[in-house]
Amino acid sequence: MSDITRASFDHYMMPNYAPVEVIPVRGKGSRLFDQAGREYIDLAGGIAVNALGHAHPKLVEALTEQGQKLWHVSNILANEPALALAKQLTEATFADRVFFSNSGGEANEAALKLARRYARNRYSEDKDEIIAFDNAFHGRTLFTVTVGGQADYKSGFGPLPGSITHLPFNNVDVLRKAVSEKTCAVIVEPIQGEAGVLDAEPQFLQIIRTLCDEHNALMILDEVQTGVGRTGHLYAHEAYGVTPDILTTAKALGCGFPIAATLATAEVAEALAFGTHGSTFGGNPLACAVAAVALALINTPDVLNGVKERRQWIEKGLEKIAQNSGCAVKVRGQGLLIGWVLAPDWEGRAREIMKAAQAAGVFVLVAGPNVVRIAPSLVIPKEDVEEGLKRLEQAVMELAAESDTAATG
Ligand SMILES: *Cc1c(COP(=O)(O)O)cnc(C)c1O
Repeated sequence: MSDITRASFDHYMMPNYAPVEVIPVRGKGSRLFDQAGREYIDLAGGIAVNALGHAHPKLVEALTEQGQKLWHVSNILANEPALALAKQLTEATFADRVFFSNSGGEANEAALKLARRYARNRYSEDKDEIIAFDNAFHGRTLFTVTVGGQADYKSGFGPLPGSITHLPFNNVDVLRKAVSEKTCAVIVEPIQGEAGVLDAEPQFLQIIRTLCDEHNALMILDEVQTGVGRTGHLYAHEAYGVTPDILTTAKALGCGFPIAATLATAEVAEALAFGTHGSTFGGNPLACAVAAVALALINTPDVLNGVKERRQWIEKGLEKIAQNSGCAVKVRGQGLLIGWVLAPDWEGRAREIMKAAQAAGVFVLVAGPNVVRIAPSLVIPKEDVEEGLKRLEQAVMELAAESDTAATG
């Protein structure tokens, strides 16, 4: 494999990503190792995916055990791992029915199609409006980029699907005026992850619920990033006292094995009648066997409370670095979905911090130009948190020293 380098990316891959120079080849827990054998602390967690770190022994066991038995049968046949996982998901949540797919975008695509179909079957053809929010992120299919609230992601791909309305996030007054009998669904993230780790205010989600009930619209919660223990609850909405009609979950569901699910109440799920939707790989036995074990491991008081404890360690560490460097003003998000908001003097430098951190041996993420995002394993050991924060501090202090030199010299 020695002829495979970062240059291979530019040669063979479509240019839609811009990965950093190092290529990890191995991971163990919250540590990653690159081609040269250099070790990194992983505070990025594969963008909130590797919720149990890398190569968790129980997940490796689930995968290899299922790998000896049955890989794929298609949805013409049912399979045990998918049915067992569906049972587990419905028992752990508000939902009665599950549709499996392979990614967050697909789970949202199914949710939106389901909402349109439900409204048409039950009410009228004209009840087709989907309400979504500015800066929201719901995936990269044509429907989901159109519903998403980031102009860059849809530009150049038209014509786009219609009857989609965007409103400002966390603005109750605008929302009240917008929801009507024409609305078939409101889709919202409990925390806008990609947009900068912005928490939905409890009242905002509660009023979405009320307005949906008043106008026979469905509430869709996109918990692709916030779900599966990320916030210290199995799903983030549990802390808001709000129950959706449809919920989408992906990222951490397979802890790195691709799997997603669209969850719904029995009544709503009826609209996805025989033949109306499908997926070749959705409900794949390998993916479901891994997700079943991941879910069982994560959905315990120990792990969920551990998330809150780890949040404290990291928040304290970030506050100390911010005090010493002046780089950041506050910490947003919940549990281990953390947004570190840069100070006005540091505006636009999130990517620079991410790169400096990587050079210092720790992976972090960004969420827009002004927010450093941290989304590590939910079971990251304390020594890895401490070591990761030490390296992050070193990176930030070096940047701060450079800025001082530039300013005075
Ligand atoms: C990552 C993400 C998606 C898209 O998931 P993919 O697996 O990349 O399709 C959708 N919604 C939210 C909130 C996400 O964070």
